Amino acid sequence: MKVTKAEIVISAVKPEQYPEGGLPEIGLAGRSNVGKSSFINKMIARKNLARTSSRPGKTQTLNFYIINEELYFVDVPGYGFAKVSKTEREAWGKMIERYIMQREQLKAVVLLVDIRHAPSADDVMMYEWLKHYEIPVIVVATKCDKIPKGKWEKHLKVVRETLKKHPDDPLIKFSSELGIGKDEAWGTIMSYIKK
Ligand code: GDP
Repeated sequence: MKVTKAEIVISAVKPEQYPEGGLPEIGLAGRSNVGKSSFINKMIARKNLARTSSRPGKTQTLNFYIINEELYFVDVPGYGFAKVSKTEREAWGKMIERYIMQREQLKAVVLLVDIRHAPSADDVMMYEWLKHYEIPVIVVATKCDKIPKGKWEKHLKVVRETLKKHPDDPLIKFSSELGIGKDEAWGTIMSYIKK
């Protein structure tokens, strides 16, 4: 997929703010610091459209990026910051739940995990939750440049087993540093867009 146009159209907190027009959407979820902004920037070939190194306390919004006037990436705020208050966590949960449960245009969610570590309890919860709502999940294992190629398969096995990943859900290794996995991720995303 050659991205010729990409821009953020809205940061939404409630359904009335979601864009109209009915284009297909791909959600992006993962714990903070997993490399989600880097993934988005790599996929759309922009240096810094999605802001990297998000900090706790920043506004929790669903960011809609329109790509080639063809689809949206919907950046779901990262989870897993210990310091987030219970109230904030609940607001986050409500916002995501509303989006995931109600949004007909949502074709699949890219769930990002760090290839170096076993998925966290939050990652597992997120995956199970998406499966509960029957959302197709594309698991992307980020930062694969940080471990030697010979160890990739061993780490991917841990990811698969910890998530109890459904065989139909693809698992893609990715490096935004080296561009590994970019074409595969686009191919996979487009296969869900066309479904
Ligand atoms: P986010 O919080 O999930 O949006 O994560 P960021 O995209 O801000 O990335 C967090 C940190 O990991 C930053 O310092 C990135 O430069 C780094 N990072 C992200 N992806 C990769 C990758 O594929 N390889 C390496 N080596 N570093 C990465």
